[in-house]
Amino acid sequence: MKNIIFFGPPGAGKGTQAKLISSYFNLPHLSTGDILRAKIQQKDQLGLELKNILASGKLVSDDILNSIVAEKIQKDCKNGFLLDGYPRTLDQSYFLENFLNTQFLKIDYIFNINIEFETLQKRILKRSKEENRDDDNLDVIKTRYSLYVDTTKKVSDHFQDKFPDNFYNIDGSDQIDKITSKIKRILEIS
Ligand code: AMP
Repeated sequence: MKNIIFFGPPGAGKGTQAKLISSYFNLPHLSTGDILRAKIQQKDQLGLELKNILASGKLVSDDILNSIVAEKIQKDCKNGFLLDGYPRTLDQSYFLENFLNTQFLKIDYIFNINIEFETLQKRILKRSKEENRDDDNLDVIKTRYSLYVDTTKKVSDHFQDKFPDNFYNIDGSDQIDKITSKIKRILEIS
């Protein structure tokens, strides 16, 4: 059983790697961004509120994310999971750690994909054309990146301090398949 967290700024390739790794190891891929985008499609009141928050690049409330993730882990993740995009705040990470304790689960691997702002700016603008995401324009990228630096980076630093032996820094400027091989190797040998 493998319980994995992926960290990285928007555009670092976190989602791409998370998809490849989860399908290779047959692990449920819990992408909170994907889950929220699916909720937006329901076009109810919550969907409308989420649409505005995502389009602004800001973060959705911890309570909403914590209950989404807790429910998914309880229902679908008996044989492991790959978290992509969560936890993003320190409060989310404290919630997750407590929740996992109550389920007698722990985090086995944490991958932190690093990348320079200039490289990810180019990548995100390319992705905005390909995927038609309305949170992929320059202003929103800057908001998302500074939220990452001010908030989510503190979360990955917290995990690095707390679980140094399970924490792996990965260079996100490498080619996609090279990054995937590196991650697979770590998961297969350790
Ligand atoms: P992503 O696809 O992971 O880049 O997420 C897209 C957007 O969804 C983010 O910019 C946030 O608005 C929202 N989001 C995703 N995950 C979280 C989270 N853990 N906490 C708060 N907001 C989130």
